[in-house]
Amino acid sequence: MSKGAAIGLDIGGGSTKVGLISHDGQLLASHRVVLAEGAEFPAILADYRAAIAALRAEGLPVGIAYPGHIDRARGLGLNSNVPALDGHPLAAALAGVSGPAAILNDADAAAVAEARHHPEGREGRMLMVTLGTGVGVSMIVAGRPLETAGGTLGDSGHVNVDPSARHRCRQGCTGCLESVASAEALERDGTLMASIGESPALASEADAAGTVSASAVCRAALAGDPGAQRLIGQMADWLGMAVASWRASFHPDLIVFGGGLSVLGQPFIDQISDRADARSLPFLSAHCRLTLARLGNDAGMIGAGLAALTP
Ligand SMILES: [Zn+2]
Repeated sequence: MSKGAAIGLDIGGGSTKVGLISHDGQLLASHRVVLAEGAEFPAILADYRAAIAALRAEGLPVGIAYPGHIDRARGLGLNSNVPALDGHPLAAALAGVSGPAAILNDADAAAVAEARHHPEGREGRMLMVTLGTGVGVSMIVAGRPLETAGGTLGDSGHVNVDPSARHRCRQGCTGCLESVASAEALERDGTLMASIGESPALASEADAAGTVSASAVCRAALAGDPGAQRLIGQMADWLGMAVASWRASFHPDLIVFGGGLSVLGQPFIDQISDRADARSLPFLSAHCRLTLARLGNDAGMIGAGLAALTP
């Protein structure tokens, strides 16, 4: 077994990635645990233990990237999209087979891993925005997550940006960033655009699949479809507005964008940056750049493992 290695678990809504992580953040091996429909805590725990055994990693420290709030004092997660795990002492249960266990929010875990690839993340102030079904926001200060409430940076993806409050997000607030600038919002707006005939590419996608996925909107925009590009431009507007607020609140030196929607690439980041600079305090935009994440979907698993190795 590698010296100084750890186990990293990244819990998602339908499956959990379990990886063996080296002390310098390399993913050495991994398993995917698919959560059975309606599975309860004991069954899920048994699956996690089996995955750790399959990696021949019993006895190593465990880090858990949890998709919700964290109660670190009790070593458990809350308010997640895996209700069967909420409120259960997951860290203590896994520590029983694998040494000490750490638990942190999943967006924070991904940011911990990403921060190692940027000087601002290792030594300065780095904000990470994960654009997926929802919007995750984490702040890293000198390599460690800044926690304001609930073991997270509050719920900064729900900063309110839309005064018309046309839409409600999955969590229940209206007019927040997540309600207008997320994969879920892109699916809703792309499906509407297809139905009113403003995008041939999205209309043919809707005909074939019955609905329009966020990745289909991204593909159409990258291929030059004007309607899809308009949706992406609107999303950049909302994100630029949020970036201006996050800059004012947290003074980051660097803002990194990851998650599925980062497939839109640097031109999308440049759009967000232009919108943000037009609204930010000038001294804040002058020293804060925006860039794409370097790590992909394994970042949460890697960050969880690294957190387990950090005193
Ligand atoms: Zn919201």
